[in-house]
Amino acid sequence: MSAFGACRQMLRAVAGRGWRPRSSKPAPSAHAKRPGAGFSFELTDEQKEFQATARKFAVEEVIPVAAQYDKTGEYPLPLIKRAWELGLMNSHIPESCGGLGLGTFESCLITEELAYGCTGVQTAIEGNSLGEMPVIIAGNEQQQKKYLGRMIEEPLMCAYCVTEPGAGSDVAGIKTKAEKKGDEYVINGQKMWITNGGKANWYFLLARTDPDPKAPAGKAFTGFIVEANSPGIQVGRKEMNMGQRCSDTRGIVFEDVRVPKENVLLGEGAGFKIAMGAFDKTRPPVAAGAVGLAKRALDEATKYALERKTFGKPIVEHQAVSFMLAEMAMKVELARMAYQRAAWEVDAGRRNTYYASIAKAFAGDIANQVATDAVQIFGGNGFNTEYPVEKLMRDAKIYQIYEGTAQIQRMIIAREHIGKYKA
Ligand SMILES: Cc1cc2nc3c(=O)[nH]c(=O)nc-3n(C[C@H](O)[C@H](O)[C@H](O)COP(=O)(O)OP(=O)(O)OC[C@H]3O[C@@H](n4cnc5c(N)ncnc54)[C@H](O)[C@@H]3O)c2cc1C
Repeated sequence: MSAFGACRQMLRAVAGRGWRPRSSKPAPSAHAKRPGAGFSFELTDEQKEFQATARKFAVEEVIPVAAQYDKTGEYPLPLIKRAWELGLMNSHIPESCGGLGLGTFESCLITEELAYGCTGVQTAIEGNSLGEMPVIIAGNEQQQKKYLGRMIEEPLMCAYCVTEPGAGSDVAGIKTKAEKKGDEYVINGQKMWITNGGKANWYFLLARTDPDPKAPAGKAFTGFIVEANSPGIQVGRKEMNMGQRCSDTRGIVFEDVRVPKENVLLGEGAGFKIAMGAFDKTRPPVAAGAVGLAKRALDEATKYALERKTFGKPIVEHQAVSFMLAEMAMKVELARMAYQRAAWEVDAGRRNTYYASIAKAFAGDIANQVATDAVQIFGGNGFNTEYPVEKLMRDAKIYQIYEGTAQIQRMIIAREHIGKYKA
């Protein structure tokens, strides 16, 4: 057995020792009267193990090759296979389908570490979580066993196909349509910016099933699972993006693609809620990814500031630089708390939309600020590809765009906040 196979088995054994997502296990009553009961910053031993495994993989396996993948844009398949072997991918797939069934909190801990290594690799891995989440939250037993089960058997990818050339933020504006013909649906339309688009084994796809333009979004759209090798699917070229360049992003055309009715999630008309509901569980990990990037930028900048000398002393001794590091550290710590709160809420079975958007918006913003400051601390070297921070600055930008832009998150936060006053 490979070292990674052994690690994966260790992770399974950890899960087998009775560990479950926090939500399914009430806090032991002995804790109930202790100060701080129900609130702790201490990770469990199991959580520390997941985190340590992901950190080791990121530092030893990902960082040494990240710059090369960034330069070539090549899909990091060997890293993805290793992450799969280690149990660092698809960690939220339920145990009933052979997965570890981890909570969002634990998945976030893993994601932060992977992102520390390279967010291009992390986004490719996270693309799977996004594609799988609609099936996890809305799939029936048969759909889950078939489509989630195969992700555990092999290192396969999947994708979440919602955005179109004409509609991203305005999801209800999508034009892809699905028409029922007998026991099948026939899908026609075009999707854009699909992570893992050219690598996926299957897609979650959102399409309009009610042709009435006045039909409410909550009834007009349906979610489908679509096999990627279905006739009529044309995958576009790999898009050359500003950052996270090894992640595979593509447009996909669906032309008379036939999907059996068994592949409808929940039922006709339920798609919009499923597609949006998935974000409550995937935005906290996206925020965790942004935190991982920011932490890396802070570490690189701090190490550099301790070594680089100007005016006879290390630049870290110039207050302007040390205060910049202090600001960066504040942002990393607070963004981490934000994603952990959002993850904890959803694992506790509570509606976390408000916290998920706060975490995503805040972490996306601070990742950009911290990466930009890291470049500043590196001076001219920061602007050069021989040093790690220019990549971090390019990679950071997408956190303010995908899974709901910075503006859309603020709309959600405002709606949730103001709603409490109106209730
Ligand atoms: C690398 C990458 C990977 C992606 N992966 C996926 C994927 O796997 N699956 C998928 O379905 N999609 C994916 N996307 C798409 C992504 O989610 C969208 O790009 C994003 O939601 C924004 O949509 P848009 O690009 O159409 O921008 P638009 O919606 O056209 O927005 C343009 C600008 O206007 C602002 N804006 C829009 N509406 C409002 C408003 N009401 N109020 C204030 N400001 C507003 C936006 O914030 C933005 O700044 C990916 C995108 C990229 C670039």
